[in-house]
Amino acid sequence: MRVAIYNNETAESQRISKLLKAEMSKAGLVLDQNAPNVVITIGGDGTLLSAFHHYEALLDKIRFVGIHTGHLGFYTDWRNYEMDDLVESLVNDSGQSVSYPLLDMHAIYSDGSIDHYTALNESTVRNITKTMVCDVFINNELFETFRGDGLCISTPTGSTAYNKSVGGAIMDPQIVGFQLAEMASLNNRVFRTLGSPIIFGSESKLMLRLKDLNGHVMTCDRDQVRLKPSVGERKLVEITYQVAKKRINFAQYRHNNFWHRVKDSFIGGAK
Ligand code: NAP
Ligand code: MN
Repeated sequence: MRVAIYNNETAESQRISKLLKAEMSKAGLVLDQNAPNVVITIGGDGTLLSAFHHYEALLDKIRFVGIHTGHLGFYTDWRNYEMDDLVESLVNDSGQSVSYPLLDMHAIYSDGSIDHYTALNESTVRNITKTMVCDVFINNELFETFRGDGLCISTPTGSTAYNKSVGGAIMDPQIVGFQLAEMASLNNRVFRTLGSPIIFGSESKLMLRLKDLNGHVMTCDRDQVRLKPSVGERKLVEITYQVAKKRINFAQYRHNNFWHRVKDSFIGGAK
C-alpha cells in the first residue's frame, strides 16, 4: 500500500500530519505523494475537495480517507486523536470501500472544442453583474427559460453543501443522480420556471444555454472556471451535466452512516 497525506495549512493539521507520518513509518507503511492508492486528507471537507481535484487523474486507483481537525465533515469522519486506529486499519486493509457518484460537466465552444470538468460537490453557473438568462434543456428538449441569480447543479454528497443553502433537497448518496436547484429565480406572469429543485437520474442530461456571456461565472467545487466569452473565435455555446462514469472511492474501515452525519451537522444529538 502506498499512502499520500494531503493536509491544509492550519497548525493542528500540520501537527496531525507529522504525527501520522511518524506512526506510518513505524508500522512500515510507505508514503507516496505521487502514485498513492490511499489518500489521507487532514483538515475539513474543503481540504478533501482540493485533494480530490489534485488526484483526479488517479480516481480509479485510489481510495480517500478524511481526518477532520475542525468540526465533523461529510467527507471527513476520522478524528484527530484516532491516529492509532487509523494506522491499524491501514495495516490490516483488505481493500474495503464505499463509492459515491460524481458530476460530469462539459463546456462546449463554437469552434468544437470541449472543456471537461468533474465535480465532487457541485457546479454553479451565475451572473455576477445582472440577471442570468438561460435556456434549460432536459435530454436535448427545451424545458424552461431561467431568469435569476443562477443555477446550482450538485452531486448526492454535495447536496448537503451549497445545494442545501439554496433550498435543494438532501439526496441519499445511494441514488445515482444529480440535482438542479435554482438561485433566486424571477417568477411572475411573464417569466416562469419550475421553481422547485429537480433530481435527475443516471441517464439524464441537463444542458444550459446562456443568452448573454458577459458577467457569467461557472464554478466546480472550490474553483472558479472562467467561461471565456471568446478566445479568438471560440464562444461558449452550451454547458452539459450528467452523472459521471467515474465515482469517488473512500476506504471504509468502519461503518459510516450518511444520515447520522446529516443529523449531527444540522440537527445535533446523533451518536
Ligand atoms: P468554504 O466557504 O470554506 O465552505 C463552506 C462550508 O461548506 C464549509 O463549512 C465546508 O466544510 C462545507 N462543506 C463542503 N462540502 C460539504 C458537503 N459536501 N456537505 C456539507 N458541507 C460541506 O469553502 P470550501 O471549504 O472551499 O468548500 C467549497 C464548497 O463550499 C463548495 O463546494 C460549496 O458547496 C460550498 N459553498 C457554499 C455556499 C453556501 O452555502 N452559500 C457558498 C459557496 C460555497 P469544512 O469547513 O469542513 O471545509
Ligand atoms: Mn472550508
